Amino acid sequence: MTTQSLELFRSAPRYLTARAIGDRAPGLLSGPLAPMRLVHKKDPVPLGPGWGRVRPLLSGICGSDLATIGGKSSFYFSPLVSLPFVPGHEVVGVLIDEVDELPAGTRIALQPVLSCLARGLDPCPNCAAGNTGRCDRVTTGHVSAGLQTGYCADTGGGWSKMFVAHRSQLHPLPDDLSDRKGVLVEPLSCAIHTALRANVQPNANVLLIGAGAIGILTLLALKELTKAGRITVVAKHGKQQEWAESFGATEVVEPKEATNAVRRTSHAMKLRPERGASFLLGGADVAIDCVGSRKSLDMALRNVRAGGRVVVSGIPGAGADLTPLWFRELELVGAYTGGIEQVDGKSRSSFEIAVELANANPIEGIVGATYPLHRWREAIDHALAAGKLGTLRVAFDPRAD
Ligand SMILES: [Zn+2]
Repeated sequence: MTTQSLELFRSAPRYLTARAIGDRAPGLLSGPLAPMRLVHKKDPVPLGPGWGRVRPLLSGICGSDLATIGGKSSFYFSPLVSLPFVPGHEVVGVLIDEVDELPAGTRIALQPVLSCLARGLDPCPNCAAGNTGRCDRVTTGHVSAGLQTGYCADTGGGWSKMFVAHRSQLHPLPDDLSDRKGVLVEPLSCAIHTALRANVQPNANVLLIGAGAIGILTLLALKELTKAGRITVVAKHGKQQEWAESFGATEVVEPKEATNAVRRTSHAMKLRPERGASFLLGGADVAIDCVGSRKSLDMALRNVRAGGRVVVSGIPGAGADLTPLWFRELELVGAYTGGIEQVDGKSRSSFEIAVELANANPIEGIVGATYPLHRWREAIDHALAAGKLGTLRVAFDPRAD
């Protein structure tokens, strides 16, 4: 039997071409030069005890997927993946097989990290502490290299009709949680991790840059899990601005207004360099970059007070100016995937918290469009232009093929 899947294969010249054109022409990226194709692959088989097959119900298209398809992610990634792979790590799906105590038919959200547990290894120190996102062994064991499902040649991924996953990746969902909320559990768990990595002190002045799906989910997490004071959200597009307002931003501004807005509320001094963006002396206590471009990271670094914290959520763009990091003695921290969080003195998994927050909040509309796999070119184009088109998240619905 074969499974219909979207497959990313490396062809170096194509890969490099995509890198060159990725910014300018979304149509070209999903066109004949794209390093992706729709294939019928042999059904993936469970990779050992504790593994089972999953049928995806919905699978999101995330910024990191678009960066990979566009050849824009750093070459740092190359040893952390194995090609060809089926993308798709934001998944709500149904178990085809019984996996340990989970019966076939269980609806799950995928925790995508392929950590020591999935690889049949004794846990590395990070995995032993529950921080599987920090696993040191994502390239070893009996599973091919791959930091997550969706980047590994052996597992398949969510952009297909079937893939395999390990028990450590399966998070059962309550029946009353819709599929559209279920597919957001993974990005929401990342947003929760981001909000907590920000170490927001009571009444802190927070600058949140970006109001796509991750930005809005991070805003939700900040409101629910921290005692942030002001949250200024930088949103480029009209619909994003509406979302940020409805999720409780104190103020929503366009990128060009961000520095002035932070200056006003933090009584900072604005300075204008001979070249490049203005910056503040004084500024927000914390800035969170949910865009991942050079410009957005510069904005974060330039608008935080001395001693403040900048959180990088998602793959950062290259080329940001680190002068403020040095001169303002900033703390620059990354936030990758979810983890074990400390909330009110208790250790809890960000996935567990994500299911609760998804249940309690009106996030369904964040998934603004779904496509069958065979319309993948349209889906990728839509995702690349999502902000302009007023969509926060585009997802594949492989049931529709
Ligand atoms: Zn590990």
